[in-house]
Amino acid sequence: MGLRVLGGIVEVRAPVRISQRRVREFVQAKGSWVVDKLIEHRERPKISPFGYGESVPYLGRKAAITIEPGPVEAVAVSLHDEDCNVFVEEPDLIYLGRWHFHVTAPLGIEGDSLRESVREALVAWYRAQATEVIQQAVDECKPLVAPRAKPVVRISNARAQWGSCSSDGVLRFSWRCLMLDPYEIEYIAVHELAHLKVRNHSKAFWRVVTKAMPSALDIRRGITRASRTLPR
Ligand SMILES: [Zn+2]
Repeated sequence: MGLRVLGGIVEVRAPVRISQRRVREFVQAKGSWVVDKLIEHRERPKISPFGYGESVPYLGRKAAITIEPGPVEAVAVSLHDEDCNVFVEEPDLIYLGRWHFHVTAPLGIEGDSLRESVREALVAWYRAQATEVIQQAVDECKPLVAPRAKPVVRISNARAQWGSCSSDGVLRFSWRCLMLDPYEIEYIAVHELAHLKVRNHSKAFWRVVTKAMPSALDIRRGITRASRTLPR
């Protein structure tokens, strides 16, 4: 029998014909280990990186977030591009740096529901930007990789994959690509465009990629490194 704890779920794998009692005994024997894992999961911080005073990467640069109540019906997000200091909650002064998000939230939303609405609004903002930025990257890289292709670009919510290419020629890119540097976004566009010519990751595939983008392998390594610290 096998046992694992994934997030808050205890999963037991057992042969089909084994009795419930034996399964229970098996889990009970490992009881303290299971309890430790569950406590560990419960106590892990689940704070969203899209919260008040946090910073999220946008096109490879950190952008701090301030949230202020205002006369709006739904949470509104705008990116500002000027130096700015803001008193968020006296006496804390946050230096927002050159790029920062001003988030305006309707009066009366607080706590967890405020945090969740802000997160949703920021994700929607990233998605909208992604549609434009990634389409542009695909259009710019296409002549170098697959000049005759007519790919359809879609934005996804994928966490584990930056991009994918389906057999019908649809290229999907996670909105999370917008956290990366522009040249990294270009690499991901080149990578998925190259799949229109070579479906797998064979030598022939990498030849197409590096012909269009000689520094592709270095950029790819940089993205793998960066992935470990980006908010999910
Ligand atoms: Zn690939």
